[in-house]
Amino acid sequence: MTRPTTPEARSEPGSLSADAAVDAAAAPAVDAAVDAAVDTHCPYCALQCGMRLAPAPATAGGVEVVERDAFPVNRGALCGKGRTAPEVLARGLRLTQPLVRDPGSGALVPTDWETALDRVAAGLSGVRERHGTDAVGVFGGGGLTNEKAYALGKFTRLVLGSSQIDYNGRFCMSSAAAAGNRAFGVDRGLPFPLADIPRTGCVILVGSNLADTMPPALRYFTELRENGGTLIVIDPRRTRTAEQADLHLAPRPGTDLALALGMLHLVVAEGRVDEAFVAERTSGWEEARAAAMAHWPELVERVTGVPVPRLREAVRMFCAPEAAMVLTARGPEQHSKGTDTVGAWINLCLATGRAGRPLSGYGCLTGQGNGQGGREHGQKADQLPGYRMLADQAAREHVAGVWGVDPDTLPGPGRSAYELLDALGRDTPDGVRALLLMASNPVVSAPRAAHVEERMRALDFLAVCDVVLSESARLADVVLPVTQWAEETGTMTNLEGRVILRQRALAPPPGCRGDLEVLNALAARLGWEKGFPTDPAEVFDELRRASAGGKADYSGITYRRIAEEDGVFWPCPERAEGPPHPGTPRLFLDRFATPDGRARFAPVLHRPAAEEPDAEYPLLLTTGRVLAQYQSGAQTRRVARQNAAAPGPFVQLHPRLADRLGVTEGERLAVVSRRGRAVAPARISADIRPDTVFMPFHWPGEGRANSLTNPALDPTSRMPEFKVCAVRVERADEA
Ligand code: SF4
Repeated sequence: MTRPTTPEARSEPGSLSADAAVDAAAAPAVDAAVDAAVDTHCPYCALQCGMRLAPAPATAGGVEVVERDAFPVNRGALCGKGRTAPEVLARGLRLTQPLVRDPGSGALVPTDWETALDRVAAGLSGVRERHGTDAVGVFGGGGLTNEKAYALGKFTRLVLGSSQIDYNGRFCMSSAAAAGNRAFGVDRGLPFPLADIPRTGCVILVGSNLADTMPPALRYFTELRENGGTLIVIDPRRTRTAEQADLHLAPRPGTDLALALGMLHLVVAEGRVDEAFVAERTSGWEEARAAAMAHWPELVERVTGVPVPRLREAVRMFCAPEAAMVLTARGPEQHSKGTDTVGAWINLCLATGRAGRPLSGYGCLTGQGNGQGGREHGQKADQLPGYRMLADQAAREHVAGVWGVDPDTLPGPGRSAYELLDALGRDTPDGVRALLLMASNPVVSAPRAAHVEERMRALDFLAVCDVVLSESARLADVVLPVTQWAEETGTMTNLEGRVILRQRALAPPPGCRGDLEVLNALAARLGWEKGFPTDPAEVFDELRRASAGGKADYSGITYRRIAEEDGVFWPCPERAEGPPHPGTPRLFLDRFATPDGRARFAPVLHRPAAEEPDAEYPLLLTTGRVLAQYQSGAQTRRVARQNAAAPGPFVQLHPRLADRLGVTEGERLAVVSRRGRAVAPARISADIRPDTVFMPFHWPGEGRANSLTNPALDPTSRMPEFKVCAVRVERADEA
């Protein structure tokens, strides 16, 4: 079989272009009509906005989005991404027939499902026989339902017998998860519902531009300010979110840790520590206090660029009210010190008694639709369902019991996402030679993306399950067209820890199959005789049993309860008698989930980014999202309205930097790092620091921001340093 090994090979005569592949595989969504409106949820981000899909036979997708005012999270509000989501259901935008790479021409050509599945089973088993079980890897996605994430982890460990599974959620919030576990003994995005935000006194929002990433959530912060509360936004750019703030601090990228430590220093110096709370409900304060005292305000000003008076103002605003919150997002998390940075923000909450109390606490605004549930149920390299750890013998025994296997047959923890991608196609004893990729597009979304693309091209075999012919799917030996959000039922866990139910609203096109069906068919071909359930309700029932007694206990949650109660918050154990467990909207009010019930301070110190500017690369690059596009853009770039609103990448730079470089608005710029080069037009704006440039990461090709990003990993969370690296900027045509 001839797979393209270079980007040029994709355009050779005889190979199938992306558009041609879609057209060739497209089929009318013949039975896509829906008879009645169905309540469901948006396919995209972690807010998981409630929406209603109503029949709209005249539209290409067959349904239209109707507001669902009663759902409490978004109360009817939706962003443009959610409103236009049905367009991706339409023919012509998606795959509706399997594709296999033709051995002669090297092109992807349509085929039937049996041939495609046989080819995948042969590709995976062939590598397994030649190189061992761990030579077969699986890479999942934070958009998969809980049922799919659970089934994918089980499939990898039982059917493939491989430890090599991780998912793109590792890129999303693993540093917050690691810090949350270290401090509180459990990791859940928010330990309280969003509805608590308007009733607290102050929120520090660190590295989140939610006005663009999840606009309906902005309403909670507007209400906070209407109620007399204050909002502090920390971001190197003056974003639309920062414009809403009472105080905006714009630290140098990579210095959030120093900023948090500087604030804690001032809390101590100004006598604002809640000594009673610290004594009664925490441990490790003295070490954390000593670490913070090494970060005196003037030093922090030099490191971060935030003036001392602004730092004092932030401390005063945070400590003045009875209750306050700190919320982080990717800004402070996607760093080689992301776990310690989040730990420092948690320290600030603990020292001031702003955790484990009503309307107070630390929370993480998760990113992907099921970034939270995706790792709770076995898709992450080191975890089993129920947030159990693979390295824990009791956890292995429990899950193996549910699966009906000997615990000793379960493989151990595998590699983290970037490490797994970096091992692809390597001709070494621990190389991963075959990959099953589901719901992810690492060619665009992984750090050091050109290298990741090169590793994917070096694979012996690549199978991709996706709804569209993404940039990663174009490299595959086999592409399996799978069903989408509106065509299938399953649960997701939103950023609040609220388990919600996506309900099937319409039938998929005949050529598409569900991911659960794919896993079942592959398991049968790979000799797994026990079967793999394809009914999501049956999978969820098994997941409930597997999660019972774990940190993320879903055993008391049912589809019926979710529908009746607008979602159920985990943990929610099943009760043998009496009224059902109500779920847990608010964590830690009585005790933290550590063995002694106390929250643990982290004695963290600031350290530089893995790559600091120098003479050759004198500027900082930070990356992020824009309002109209979602993640790698595989779906939203195919939606006309979203694409019209945000048609391509850009380089945001300050007017002073533009002057110094002699750059004008719209001029093509080349941003160059040690890993590659990306070209995009200049967008000159005073809303960014003069020492920093920003690029959104939704696009492939010459404007791919992740060609530049640094895969330096956090030692605990193994999260790459997407948010800062050293670059130089040149006029593209001169470069
Ligand atoms: Fe969908 Fe997120 Fe937009 Fe809500 S905010 S409509 S969940 S993309």
